[in-house]
Amino acid sequence: MKSKLFVIGKPIKHSRSPTIHNFWIEKYSLNANYYKLEVDKKEIRYLIKDLREEKIKGFNVTIPYKKIIIDFVDELEISASKSKAVNTVYKIKDKIIGANTDGIGFISSLQKDLNFHLNSSSNVMCVGAGGAAYGIISSIIDFNPNMIKITNRTRSAGIKLIKHFEKFTESKKLFESKLMGYKPDNYIDLLINCTSCGMNGKNPLDIELGSMKKKSLVYDLVYEPPLTPLMKIAREKKIKNTNGFYMLVRQASESFYRWFGVMPKDSHVNEVISILKRDD
Ligand code: NAP
Repeated sequence: MKSKLFVIGKPIKHSRSPTIHNFWIEKYSLNANYYKLEVDKKEIRYLIKDLREEKIKGFNVTIPYKKIIIDFVDELEISASKSKAVNTVYKIKDKIIGANTDGIGFISSLQKDLNFHLNSSSNVMCVGAGGAAYGIISSIIDFNPNMIKITNRTRSAGIKLIKHFEKFTESKKLFESKLMGYKPDNYIDLLINCTSCGMNGKNPLDIELGSMKKKSLVYDLVYEPPLTPLMKIAREKKIKNTNGFYMLVRQASESFYRWFGVMPKDSHVNEVISILKRDD
């Protein structure tokens, strides 16, 4: 019998995860199917029960359950405890584990797809302080960058994020508690839009990129539309830019590995990115 996997959330109809995982399932001749499933919070425990009884192989979790799911699993990977969120649930022996592959997927996309390498002199600016920002920053701090500036519409949420990550950093210089406006300075090497601004072309970020260097990178986590409003601004200024497709696929490859023990090859990552771009 085919094993079943899901992405759960509410709403879920726009998820691209089934396209990605079913492509790799076929590529690697695995006996499985991956579905999207809209669930209410009260239904989560039935999925956990099914996983415990091995009626399903695992699942991804998206908005609004990435935090809630923590209470349902037996153990958290460091990725999940550090970022306070879970996007991947799998079983090892008799334990149900929660992981967050967003951060590692983001870093992998930087290194493998965008040839951008963080180091101790990197200056990073992150717009947003929601779930995606927590996931990404939990991995960025591992590179001990010179600075990570946080700016967020709701200042208290930005400060809460800074306080959370100060625990994991060697030096306080990594974070400026003074929150900045949407105007990256010329020393910023990597600007990341971790907000939902620009999603479906709505509420674009009101941001000025004029002083950013051309060799810096503007990384928009948004990928609908594929040419996002922020990318358009970056292109006008001739600054290197990307949407969130690479991260989406790289975080998926990390989930896939946890369920099947198979890490999709870079060529199969690129194939699925082409399919996502074509489908838009
Ligand atoms: P979230 O937890 O709901 O956080 C949303 C963030 O966006 C908050 O910082 C919020 O600020 C900010 N925001 C929302 N509307 C805004 C507006 N009109 N003006 C300014 N700021 C606004 O969502 P999330 O999970 O972090 O996801 C954020 C985005 O990342 C989504 O578009 C999601 O699709 C994308 N994402 C992409 C990937 C990928 O693989 N490419 C992975 C994860 C997420 P406040 O605190 O002020 O509300």
